[in-house]
Amino acid sequence: MPKQLEASEQHRRAVLKALLCITVFGGLLFGIVNIFRELYVLSALELGYAAFSAYLLRFIGTTERLRFWTVIFLLPFFGLMIFAVLLPRTSFTVFAWVQTIPIICYLLLGLRTGLLMSAAFVAMGLLAFNYRYMTDASLFNIIIVANVGLSSMAIMLFSHVYERSRVDNERRLLELASKDVLTGLANRMKLAEVFERERSHALRDNKPLALVVLDLDHFKRINDQFGHEGGDQVLRHVADLLPTRLRETDLFCRLGGEEFALLLPGADLGRAAELANALREQLCATPLQLDNGLVTLSFSAGVAALGEDGSSLDALMRTADRRLYEAKGGGRNQVVAEEQDCSVVR
Ligand code: GH3
Ligand code: MG
Ligand code: MG
Repeated sequence: MPKQLEASEQHRRAVLKALLCITVFGGLLFGIVNIFRELYVLSALELGYAAFSAYLLRFIGTTERLRFWTVIFLLPFFGLMIFAVLLPRTSFTVFAWVQTIPIICYLLLGLRTGLLMSAAFVAMGLLAFNYRYMTDASLFNIIIVANVGLSSMAIMLFSHVYERSRVDNERRLLELASKDVLTGLANRMKLAEVFERERSHALRDNKPLALVVLDLDHFKRINDQFGHEGGDQVLRHVADLLPTRLRETDLFCRLGGEEFALLLPGADLGRAAELANALREQLCATPLQLDNGLVTLSFSAGVAALGEDGSSLDALMRTADRRLYEAKGGGRNQVVAEEQDCSVVR
């Protein structure tokens, strides 16, 4: 799971923990009170539920199967609420618990499951309430029906709207956090996320994975000659031009400044160097026309491959950087894929 989404799961874990504490306390309290009221079945269920919640509390903070345990916890919890509404000697106010169902469902299970589960259980709760108080003449009072039905619907609607905008905001923030603002390319954080995924695919399918780090040559001179805005236009030009030759699974991102990285699933060192060279030639052949002149461009690059050059992104970055440094030292406008024998692919 990407690191950013873990935060969202931690939030759900905290909500579930708080709910478990409430059910331990509430289960014990109502379980004991209901013994004195001689509601033995309900009391046994409540005490049993308090014990089950206490058991869940012990590992809910660390379990990998949070969603599974959430559903296992909620189904009987909601069932118990509806059972309590149906019992002839419980208080009218037990229904207040049914109204917490949508909030709990949306907070813990998200939009889709939250909607399905809260619609199903709130409908059952309303039917149970109707059945229980059917004989009560006051129910035919339109005010009570409207109060119970409409307040339940309102809580469900608010929970839905809240979760919908929370999910949208989270998605927008994740998008912003993984994009480079100037070029619209993926950034370093996105590279780390995609690398983790592609590395597991490569290891599972026994396929190669290569990383190219490239740096524009003499970019400072471009800035000096065409101004910072001219330099920015060059960066956007590179970001538009180079990805056009790439496959959908390749990732081109901006690391910062005039440094870019290319993650190539399925490519070994040789194939990655070949592709980097094709891109280098394409960039050389596509100068950028600015208001105050034509800018000719080139880059130097270093290539590293999963396995022979390491197994982490850091290790591959270090190797690719070292080779990039060699490419600069060797005169720029070139790609270096192996340093031992100093072979330069050009
Ligand atoms: P080399 O060929 O050795 O890579 O030389 P270089 O001039 O490209 O490299 P150097 O690291 O000396 O200069 C990079 C320059 O890039 C310095 C910095 O001002 C500029 N720069 C960094 N980020 C941006 C940016 O977002 N926009 C613009 N226009 N310039 C930037
Ligand atoms: Mg440079
Ligand atoms: Mg640089």
